[in-house]
Amino acid sequence: MTGSGNAICRDAFYHREMSEVLEQEAKTGAGHAQKYTRNSPYASNVNVNYLLTAEGSEKETRHVELALEEGMTYTPGDAVGIIPENRAEAVDDALKALGYKGDERVLDHYKVEISLEEALRTRLGIGKLSRGSIGQYAKLAPNLDGLKVLIGPDNRARAEEYCWGREFVDLATDFPGVVTDPQQLFNVLQRLTPRMYSISSSQKVHPDSVHTTVRVIRYETHGRDRQGVASGHLGDRAGEGTAMPIFLHSNNNFRLPEEASAPVIMVGPGTGIAPFRAFLEERQADGAPGENWLFFGEQREKMDFLYKDQLQGMVKAGVLTHLHTAFSRDQHNKVYVQDRIQENAKEVFEWLERGAYFYVCGDATRMAKDVETALLDAIAKGSNGTLEHAAEYLATMKKQKRYQRDVY
Ligand SMILES: Cc1cc2nc3c(=O)[nH]c(=O)nc-3n(C[C@H](O)[C@H](O)[C@H](O)COP(=O)(O)OP(=O)(O)OC[C@H]3O[C@@H](n4cnc5c(N)ncnc54)[C@H](O)[C@@H]3O)c2cc1C
Repeated sequence: MTGSGNAICRDAFYHREMSEVLEQEAKTGAGHAQKYTRNSPYASNVNVNYLLTAEGSEKETRHVELALEEGMTYTPGDAVGIIPENRAEAVDDALKALGYKGDERVLDHYKVEISLEEALRTRLGIGKLSRGSIGQYAKLAPNLDGLKVLIGPDNRARAEEYCWGREFVDLATDFPGVVTDPQQLFNVLQRLTPRMYSISSSQKVHPDSVHTTVRVIRYETHGRDRQGVASGHLGDRAGEGTAMPIFLHSNNNFRLPEEASAPVIMVGPGTGIAPFRAFLEERQADGAPGENWLFFGEQREKMDFLYKDQLQGMVKAGVLTHLHTAFSRDQHNKVYVQDRIQENAKEVFEWLERGAYFYVCGDATRMAKDVETALLDAIAKGSNGTLEHAAEYLATMKKQKRYQRDVY
């Protein structure tokens, strides 16, 4: 067992507010109350952190294992919250743009005195810019014409356009000298918030750790290299042994069937694979007799087939009844998981008729909708019914908790 075994309570930032703790613990459900929360996280360590994608991939997806203290428990379907820090370069750039050194003293959200550098690194969201921040910033310089055109209900679209691809450093660079007292930043910037990651392990197999599957976000906009706050932290500054504050977050709306014999269909392209690795490990550990079918998709088989060896091993072991993959860039016509569902519509419907549970995890913007459309088609075709009938069928599945989604 690794880890210091203590909640991080080095100052009031992490002190529990009772109402928040109760709310959090109420959400975790009976018998699953968590000792550590977002306001009082566990001081975990990174045990393992490696790249899952191969060289040449357009994606950078990592497998990260974090140590747990004895007594910390999770169930497949749960998530782990990670409390990130802003990277030093981003903090330095913000300080330069603001014209401060970083050793100035400020009071944090709980009135604890810290340096401005620490505030920008651990307390304030200096990543993706929001319209709210522009509005608060503009209040500090009401006569600045360039800022005036970005505030108020009439300028919403213009402000959104300005925010796209920009961070606080861009605002402070474009409109310098506005923040005359570093304490004002606590009104301008939102709090640095934890990021959630679907757990990709079964505790029956890994009793002392929690695994995650993290896509590292990197991009360039407006002449600057950017990265996601938490995924960048895990990607660049979280080698083995690095301290990482975490908390476990229960999700009772994404659970394996209680009946171990029920068939399960899982659709998890990209990092959507995460909870299904957990589901499959759990079912394998339990020796659950129910059949398992996984649809996985990514760009290229050679570089992006996450957990390929483990999944193929599960096929050989008979744990995975079917493994259907869709690698969109491996052929001229793009192929996605929803296409594979359509190709296998008849058998998908047969499984549903046998009581299969249908799970979807991953991208909420397009994939989840396209998969639902393919599923409705499969139901309509299989039942010789209409799409209205298919919608009713799916609504019944939802009521029976046989259609569950974890999309973000
Ligand atoms: C329940 C749940 C489970 C999740 N599970 C996982 C998981 O298993 N694996 C996983 O990787 N993530 C998962 N996520 C997402 C994760 O929580 C983070 O949102 C994600 O890692 C990004 O966080 P970040 O701090 O790295 O990026 P942030 O600092 O939050 O930045 C992300 C923002 O950057 C901007 N951006 C990104 N790319 C570009 C671009 N090319 N051009 C311009 N702007 C851009 C977008 O505005 C985007 O919203 C999950 C989320 C939830 C809610």
